[in-house]
Amino acid sequence: MQHKTIIEPFRIKSVEPIQLSTEKERIENLQEAHYNPFLLLSDEVIIDLLTDSGTSAMSSSQWAGIMEGDEAYAGSHSWLHLERVIKDLTGFEFILPTHQGRAAERIIYGHLGGDGKTFISNTHFDTTRANIEFSGAEALDIPVAEANDMGSFHPFKGNMDVLKLEEIIAKKGAANIGAVILTVTNNSSGGQPVSMENAEQVAEICKRNGVLFLLDCCRIAENSYFINHREAGYENQSYRQIAQQMFNLADGAVMSAKKDALVNMGGFLVLKDKKLADACKSLLIITEGFTTYGGLSGRDMEAMAIGLEEVFDPHYLEYRIKSTEYLGSRLREMGVPIIWPTGGHAVYVDAKALYPHIPPQEYPGQSLVCELYRLGGIRSVEIGSVMFGKYDEKGQLIPAPMELVRLAIPRRVYTQSHIEYVIETFAQIMKERETVKGYKITEEPEFLRHFTAHFEPA
Ligand SMILES: *Cc1c(COP(=O)(O)O)cnc(C)c1O
Repeated sequence: MQHKTIIEPFRIKSVEPIQLSTEKERIENLQEAHYNPFLLLSDEVIIDLLTDSGTSAMSSSQWAGIMEGDEAYAGSHSWLHLERVIKDLTGFEFILPTHQGRAAERIIYGHLGGDGKTFISNTHFDTTRANIEFSGAEALDIPVAEANDMGSFHPFKGNMDVLKLEEIIAKKGAANIGAVILTVTNNSSGGQPVSMENAEQVAEICKRNGVLFLLDCCRIAENSYFINHREAGYENQSYRQIAQQMFNLADGAVMSAKKDALVNMGGFLVLKDKKLADACKSLLIITEGFTTYGGLSGRDMEAMAIGLEEVFDPHYLEYRIKSTEYLGSRLREMGVPIIWPTGGHAVYVDAKALYPHIPPQEYPGQSLVCELYRLGGIRSVEIGSVMFGKYDEKGQLIPAPMELVRLAIPRRVYTQSHIEYVIETFAQIMKERETVKGYKITEEPEFLRHFTAHFEPA
């Protein structure tokens, strides 16, 4: 018999209690957190959809690996294990472990960046952009036009606009391009996948112009699932083979292992070129650690090596992508405006369309984030003008192109009933949508303000 129900392909061996709360308690918690969910305590949250980063449940094999971890300073067998797994998967010669993705970003973009340099991406993730801009360089996003069309189906909304890529390289001069970065899947524009065809076009343009081509490969297993199911010619290739083919197009990659490596901490930088790798290794040693651990303990590397293999399990990926899609479809049926189709790791709600009466200057995404917490104890994150807004010379907000709220699904953590609870909360959000008010910022830092900014109801 062919079952329609997609079950979680795991049993639960260890549980973590959730503290339930009342709406009254949550209203107080919100006030204390200055209406910024990053400032809420984890114990105050019922369902935490803030991020899929570092929130995965590890498998019993990974926990066993934790005990097997070899903590030798140099030549640890956990490092050799991790190095072999990453080399087999990516095909790159030089493997630099880091404590998380942004550490790899700081090393490579710090080295390649600087005043006058331009980086080009389908969409730079926030830490990627911050590291590039911190170096003095500029970061340009060129997603395809379909990425802005939230409601209509396009199989690869994560793609890069290759015509614009050619134009920018011609205008700026190839020598001034720090790197072209293809983020797979494209986190900031909806967790949408990138096709192999697009990656091939980007690779060809970079090669022809002598520009470095990097993958931001945090979610390459999820991206491979979409290629297998949506791009002609890949039906019979394994998810792993698809990932390998994509790595083969690039000159290197940056990974936050907190996503598709199914661990709570870790990352790496991989490169083809020895000279570039040597320069980065020096920075690695100065800021992260020796080249055989880079800020990680042996047990972390062991768990990462195991997770990088588990993530390509077809049953896992099927459950992963289908359960995200389930939440998206149910919300869409209820009339919640979301980015369609749903991406791999998250459902993105269009807060501008949900709350058309709240202008971008009053951050409609922040309103939804607060409502989700008030009504359901659900923590989510704004990806709109709070995260990406800028100010002009007069101090007026230049809004982000979209006002989204991301419901990121931690890997292997929540069950179907948790998701049903989220759906039920959205039913109430739809009922109250017209009376919800906006927010204003009362305090903010210079970089990555969404992490620590304070808000007040407008
Ligand atoms: C999470 C993430 C990063 C940064 O990685 P950290 O491990 O959080 O430092 C970079 N790029 C993308 C696309 C990400 O999702």
